[in-house]
Amino acid sequence: MSLALTLYRLQQIDSRLSKVTTRLAAIQSTLENNAELKAASRKLDAAKLALREAEKVLKSAEVESASQRIKLEMAEASLYSGRIQSPKELQDLEKDIASLKRHLGALEDLQLEGMISVETCRAERELAQKEFEAVQGKVISENATLQTEQLTLQKEADTLNAQRQAVLPAIDAATLSMYDSLLQKRSGQAVSQVIENACDTCGSSLTPGYAQSVRTSNQLVHCPMCGRILYSN
Ligand SMILES: [Zn+2]
Repeated sequence: MSLALTLYRLQQIDSRLSKVTTRLAAIQSTLENNAELKAASRKLDAAKLALREAEKVLKSAEVESASQRIKLEMAEASLYSGRIQSPKELQDLEKDIASLKRHLGALEDLQLEGMISVETCRAERELAQKEFEAVQGKVISENATLQTEQLTLQKEADTLNAQRQAVLPAIDAATLSMYDSLLQKRSGQAVSQVIENACDTCGSSLTPGYAQSVRTSNQLVHCPMCGRILYSN
């Protein structure tokens, strides 16, 4: 096998390995960090918190209304008990009762608002719960698909690495170092095929004589334009 062909094989392995590695990293990141699920979970937490707050407000309005109602009932009981005879005292008690009723009315309004707020928050919490479960279900099924792909790609990466190890001994250290440096400088593509007397990667035309030398020379021939190692089959 000519050195150019060996390097071309290595290039094919490295190109595929690079794609596989990039995809594996993307899969890993998706599996670890699902933005949609996190957003749905934050929304659900916020809805739960809002409901707890609304329930607290309602509870306190209920307690206050109940205690106000007891005060009112006691005042009314004294008024109708017949025990109070003094007109002044009776008048004061009537005033107190009127004031207690007004305050109770305000508290009952608050209680009603609290009930409406709790109902709204409960509906929102249920909606957020349903949305979260829907996203969770979708993510679980997507993750299963991703995990299958991950397993397949990991196996392919193992195979590619083994193939790489098999190809490497046929390449001398200086050439390999030149290949690696080209790989870095030329966007992961160090070897280019010659197709119809042109470098297939940069598109630069080669003279028929130059293209011929790629096929016949014992030395590696580089593209005069992009500097990549040329290979012709
Ligand atoms: Zn080129």
